Amino acid sequence: MRPEVLEIFQESYRELRLNASLPELKVEFFAFANVNNTIRLRNGRILVRLSDLLEGAPENILRAIAHILLAKMYQQPIDRTYAARYRKYIGSRDIMRKAHLVRQMRGRKRLRSARGHFYDLETIFEELNTRFFHGLMARPLMSWSQTRTRRILGHYDPAHNAIIISRVFDHPQVPRYVLDYIVYHEMLHLKHPVTLRGSRRCVHSAEFQAEERLFPKAAEAEAFLKRL
Ligand SMILES: [Zn+2]
Repeated sequence: MRPEVLEIFQESYRELRLNASLPELKVEFFAFANVNNTIRLRNGRILVRLSDLLEGAPENILRAIAHILLAKMYQQPIDRTYAARYRKYIGSRDIMRKAHLVRQMRGRKRLRSARGHFYDLETIFEELNTRFFHGLMARPLMSWSQTRTRRILGHYDPAHNAIIISRVFDHPQVPRYVLDYIVYHEMLHLKHPVTLRGSRRCVHSAEFQAEERLFPKAAEAEAFLKRL
């Protein structure tokens, strides 16, 4: 957080409410799905959340936002100069383009899709199918995850017969063999269903692991994933 952002809000507060004492203020940038800014007063404390799209905004724009949000909250008239300045900035081509991208990435209504920005999971599945499974594997639903999780690389969902791969790997800096390795692992889940050994579920059986080691660049892929 740039320290001056908080100062801007404090100054704006003093301008609007000359005689009132300054309450505790917290300002943070937040990954909204859109250009969105919120303000609320809770237990005498003002909480402001600004769209992270505005993180690099010039000072005069932040000043305009501070004024607009505070004026709204205290039901004061909004200065037209500030309102116009803010609207102009939000409407600028650069911000519109960023907002569009963010909506695509964060929007909830987004359909699941095998086609990412860089990699197409169906193509990857078919190539691996030919290389390792004699083209015999029936293709499940292939999809990038909705969120960019790092914790889960991918998973096979037998209930929906779907392979979901974390969207973090749809990136030009991710080598193709790393993504292949992740998809290959999930394909092995299709081939080796979970078995029960006594009362224990065996997810990665000895056969599964032996077959996983057949992947030519397994060690390099593991090393890349560890650095992630
Ligand atoms: Zn697994």
